[in-house]
Amino acid sequence: MSQPHCLPGSTGWSDSGQPATLGVMGGGQLGRMFVHAAQSMGYFTVVLDPDTSSPAGLVSHQHIQRDYLDTQGLAQLVQHCAAVTTEFENVPAAALATLAATRPTAPNAEAVAIAQDRIQEKTHLARSGVPVAPYAVIENAADLATVADTLLPGILKTARLGYDGKGQLRVSSRAELASAWDALKQVPCVLEQMLPLADECSVIVARGWDGTCVHFAPQRNLHRQGILAVTQAYEGNLPSTLVDKAVEATKKIADELNYVGVLCVEFFVLAEGSPESAALGGLVVNEMAPRPHNSGHYTLDACDQSQFDLQVRTLAGLPLVQPRHHSAAVMLNLLGDLWVNGTIPPWDAVLALPGVHLHLYGKLQAKPGRKMGHLTVTAATAAEANAVALEAARLLGIDAF
Ligand code: ADP
Ligand code: MG
Repeated sequence: MSQPHCLPGSTGWSDSGQPATLGVMGGGQLGRMFVHAAQSMGYFTVVLDPDTSSPAGLVSHQHIQRDYLDTQGLAQLVQHCAAVTTEFENVPAAALATLAATRPTAPNAEAVAIAQDRIQEKTHLARSGVPVAPYAVIENAADLATVADTLLPGILKTARLGYDGKGQLRVSSRAELASAWDALKQVPCVLEQMLPLADECSVIVARGWDGTCVHFAPQRNLHRQGILAVTQAYEGNLPSTLVDKAVEATKKIADELNYVGVLCVEFFVLAEGSPESAALGGLVVNEMAPRPHNSGHYTLDACDQSQFDLQVRTLAGLPLVQPRHHSAAVMLNLLGDLWVNGTIPPWDAVLALPGVHLHLYGKLQAKPGRKMGHLTVTAATAAEANAVALEAARLLGIDAF
């Protein structure tokens, strides 16, 4: 499908005569923030998600409440939209392929299919010029027996459908590996060597239909229990030697996939002086997300264009301009744990702090570990942003970082 040129507010894209409409597969918080960005530029939006109270469905002009592979649902989406994107990688690639037959669809089904499967993903990531963590594919009992000792201790990860640390187990012996694979129902997995991490970071790029690629500088990420907890985005957050390398690797990955849309690549920064660092170099590529990413939410408040603005621009075939990061930022994820026993977190105290931007996703039910929202602190300096974010964390009962 050729590049769309879908100007905001233009008509003639559908029989209904409504202004140019952009569609999104999936109605979670990422879809919601895409919808907000699209609407602020004058686009109409349609969300396809079976969940009747999905965060994006609640704010979209239209919400098609059907399954992702439902033929009628996909037909309705195509009927209304000039172009379609996805907000999460587990939308069936077949659904994207169906949409792409008649509408510009970005990212394409192939890139999403690769990101859905850790085994395929590793092959592609390895072409970035930055190594992946040493790993073995586990698909049957014979694979278990031939695993190299050097991969233990390691992390066993299901090849498909894992997120936020779900679908992965840490193992330190062959016996633990075997029982972990049983616990994961013997589905195809990868076993990764456990690496000594000094840091984690991610890079977000947006690549257009003509190959133009713009990026945000790498953000530093802190995970807790496999879930992103804190992102720090300011100059000096990471060793400068790694910064260019990570951006270059991410652009290379996007180019190799002929990727269109917003892409995030996660990296591990290895502990200096460790044998692993000596063997692999300081930087290891972890995984990619074919969409905006939780670690890029700070761009809503700290940059002149957010990752969602760039998603809209790439999808609609609008010019891509290098975003400018204007404020130091620290983002805290707000998980369902903060709403224990139905109490409302002390927003009044938090919002009394300078530079606090609260984003809640409209989710009706708080559960431990569920991403309910995030909070970004912007400031003139990194020290200030960190100090205010620490105070906000204290007020909310989030562990210091
Ligand atoms: P998810 O899809 O759930 O984000 P990841 O593969 O990114 O899964 O793993 C989640 C987190 O677990 C990572 O951000 C990192 O903190 C930790 N982790 C994953 N793989 C490794 C590894 N090989 N060595 C050390 N830590 C790891
Ligand atoms: Mg991850």
